[in-house]
Amino acid sequence: MKKLNLIDGQWVAGGGATPNINPSNTADVIDEFTQADKAQVETAIAAARRAFPKWALAGVQQRADILDQIGNEILARKEELGTLLSREEGKTRPEGIGEAARAGYIFKFFAGEAIRAHGELVPSVRPGIDVEITREPVGVVGMITPWNFPIAIPAWKIAPALAFGNCVVFKPADLVPASAWALAEIISRTELPPGVFNLVMGRGSVVGAALVSSPDIDAISFTGSVPTGRNIARTAVETMKKVQLEMGGKNAQVVLDDADLDVAVNISLQSAFFSTGQRCTAASRLIVTEGIHDRFVEALGKRMAALTIDDALKAGTDIGPVVDQSQLSQNLDYVKIAQDEGGKLAAGGQRLTRGTEGFYMAPALITETTPAMRINREEVFGPVASVVRVKDYDEALAVCNDVQFGLTAGIATRSLKHAAHFKRNAQVGMVMVNLPTAGVDYHVPFGGRKGSSYGPREQGAYAREFYTTVKTAYVQP
Ligand code: NAD
Repeated sequence: MKKLNLIDGQWVAGGGATPNINPSNTADVIDEFTQADKAQVETAIAAARRAFPKWALAGVQQRADILDQIGNEILARKEELGTLLSREEGKTRPEGIGEAARAGYIFKFFAGEAIRAHGELVPSVRPGIDVEITREPVGVVGMITPWNFPIAIPAWKIAPALAFGNCVVFKPADLVPASAWALAEIISRTELPPGVFNLVMGRGSVVGAALVSSPDIDAISFTGSVPTGRNIARTAVETMKKVQLEMGGKNAQVVLDDADLDVAVNISLQSAFFSTGQRCTAASRLIVTEGIHDRFVEALGKRMAALTIDDALKAGTDIGPVVDQSQLSQNLDYVKIAQDEGGKLAAGGQRLTRGTEGFYMAPALITETTPAMRINREEVFGPVASVVRVKDYDEALAVCNDVQFGLTAGIATRSLKHAAHFKRNAQVGMVMVNLPTAGVDYHVPFGGRKGSSYGPREQGAYAREFYTTVKTAYVQP
């Protein structure tokens, strides 16, 4: 049955429909999803605007109860939702279930945040006057999300928006509408007033663009690639919207001579290749000092050879397929580009065939690369990692920072001195010591620097910065 958009509390069909294909098995069509056009997006925005004045003033207990209910249902259904997610996106079933659980916890966290919302009362510099600083919702927030976290990223935008009294028009990525639709369906069965939350599925150039250019949207929260993010920021500023962009990365995993080899190999394997390398926090550059380099490359190659790459839903699969043909082609192109520029393909890098027609690829490790090569400057967004051999810690840090991105960076070392220096000097939003660059907690800020992020951080208590606006009131009692 075709899945519809949710607008003003009603399920409505759009202009056309698009099939959702399982990347592990292209013969498996998950469902058909309707596509909104510009006029339908405008209807959704108008519904959100109408709902906003009342929802902005709704009691915090009401908001908290609704968010808690959504979180509870997601957690109770995490296996089913996680399986659906793996089926449409291609990460393994345990990864899919983990992501669904994370989405549930995010809703429950923001149920608490709704209650914890508070202001400040400060004395004025003029005697006898009080100054109150309070936070109010921003208004109607447009949300545009990528395909690689089909339920967690929508959750970490929708939950804080609703917690702080905003209305939402949500556009999921075209490749993964099923998880988004399932989340919308859960939300639709709560006591949330009609129009507070709306789902509009469809193409970025149509639905996304209509949100970004609408004068009736107050803020845009976007996660996706750098080129799309840049365009969105430019257009959003024309109508003075608040903008939050989370974009790409070229994250580094530094490995120093004094690292525990097993730890270094383990975290590099996870950072670079798990979730098929399709994480904005994935490490795609392994920066390794020369004393450990050869042992590290050999050990990592062995671990890669032992990985099971297969259907995301099969028990025992370590790495599922790439999300679609165009991403697979991009990955394979970059493997070739790296070799053409002088890199050596040390492991993987080929398309694989499995029992079903899918976008399978052996994770690639490219050695003998230099920081100037394209493979070390541009985001691939697949299971492709390059190794840069460096002399010492100082060179490792310099190479780590020598990119336009700044999302995460990790260091494997037993030196407190180097770990502490790296924490301070890595030009990123998130630093990991002896831990994978990917895999973060849901109750603390998430985001980066430089070309990776723009605007206030997402998640945790810091999410309040984007989803509220500050008011200062002066009161003479
Ligand atoms: P994308 O930029 O192609 O698409 C992201 C979203 O933007 C989609 O919903 C798409 O439909 C929409 N869009 C496309 N064109 C648009 C337009 N003209 N106007 C408005 N919206 C438009 O990104 P993707 O391929 O879905 O996701 C992969 C990218 O996301 C990678 O670069 C990855 O690093 C990044 N990402 C970043 C984070 C983070 O938090 N920093 C998290 C996950 C993914």
